[in-house]
Amino acid sequence: MSYSNPHARALALILFFASLGRSQDFESRFAEIRDRATPQQLYSFLYALPKGGDLHHHAGLSIYARTALEVGLKQRQNGYRVYTRTSFHDCGDNENGAVILYQNINSANYAKLSPCRQSDFTPFDDLSATQRSAWISALILDQPGETRNEFFEEIVPRLSPFLRNPYYFADSFAENLKLFGREGVRYIEAQWSPIAMERPDGTIFPPDEAIAIFKKRMAQPDVIASGVQYRFHTTVIRFRDDVERQIAFQYEFIDRHRDLWVGINAAGREDNDKGYALRMLNAFREARRKHSAIPMSIHAGEKDSPGREVHDTLLLGASRIGHGLNLISDPDTMLLLRHNRYLVEINLISNRVLDYVPDLSKHPFPEYLRFGIPVCLNTDDRGSWDSNMTDEYMHAVQLFRLTWTEIKQLGHNSLTYSFAPEALKQKMLADYDRDLRQFEERFASGDWAAELSRIRPEISGYARKNLLP
Ligand SMILES: [Zn+2]
Repeated sequence: MSYSNPHARALALILFFASLGRSQDFESRFAEIRDRATPQQLYSFLYALPKGGDLHHHAGLSIYARTALEVGLKQRQNGYRVYTRTSFHDCGDNENGAVILYQNINSANYAKLSPCRQSDFTPFDDLSATQRSAWISALILDQPGETRNEFFEEIVPRLSPFLRNPYYFADSFAENLKLFGREGVRYIEAQWSPIAMERPDGTIFPPDEAIAIFKKRMAQPDVIASGVQYRFHTTVIRFRDDVERQIAFQYEFIDRHRDLWVGINAAGREDNDKGYALRMLNAFREARRKHSAIPMSIHAGEKDSPGREVHDTLLLGASRIGHGLNLISDPDTMLLLRHNRYLVEINLISNRVLDYVPDLSKHPFPEYLRFGIPVCLNTDDRGSWDSNMTDEYMHAVQLFRLTWTEIKQLGHNSLTYSFAPEALKQKMLADYDRDLRQFEERFASGDWAAELSRIRPEISGYARKNLLP
């Protein structure tokens, strides 16, 4: 741009330096909002905040229970019939120890049951209003005493027939993209393995057919309008007997589906000793002999006890660590991660509701952040916590008085350390910076309280109970 008029040039320079000053000033402006806003105002601010990516995201368990119900009820039109356990009769079999109320099963498994056992179940579409409410509640950790056993042993099995239905998966994932888009999240890196998706008769779809159903839904205008980009990891279950075979199989799968699959993950309870990290070392090394450039993000250190899980997981080849809670007890590995290129995916609400860190003010997140270990905030299994990304930021800002620079760093990290293709990553970073500048301008001057009153956040169930008195 050139200015022949010296006055115009001077004015342009003044405006340019004013905008620079505005960006620097926003640190103090943000501190004013953070310290003086009511919780409701701060929630509105953080809901409208432009955000980066959600890198630690289990696709199936990130669906809100009410969305699962709505989308589940549409599956009849795709030919699926689901039955829900609403009672328990003494049928003289050995089921007594394994009863899970509101467990859902597909029609093929229902057909295998004895008539007495079938009488425990109600067709999913015929649940009464009261039963539907109980069905929703059974998918959320919303009662005192419901923690990790309820989550791992009951909620996960309850959803099984839905998670194996590619139409349900595609539709519920679409609803999630729209919700995340509205709170400023621009990228989801979700864990989804479309390897055992089922047809209505219980037979298995070849993965490419399931993926075609998914892609067809993603091409619809409502999904595109969300503006949210997505990629996937496959996930191996670390404590299963066949984990070595799973790793080999999933590397092959990712290598053939690199348009959507960008990484591999390992999950599963770390308090099950069969899943220790180094057990997988040879299998990952063997896979790397055959396949190039498949990055790894691995759950590690999501434990109550101190240990070297994060260290051992870095040796597996991981460049991102899920949770990393007990990293705080491992000084050598803390030093290794400091100012380095490994990111720890923080999941505050997950750690709280699963009772790993019941008092979040004791969470190691601020130490990692301020010690110089790259971190970002994530939602993990937000459907089961009934929470959203805004809630993660709300906890972080309220408990640890994050600065504006730190907030921006979290978003930057979530994009920079994503496994997204380089061109997409650069575009998302540029868009994120642009959106942040506009957001700063919006709140830089004038009456921020009046500006916040114009925001209509979607308040999560978790926030209503825990964040907004
Ligand atoms: Zn996880």
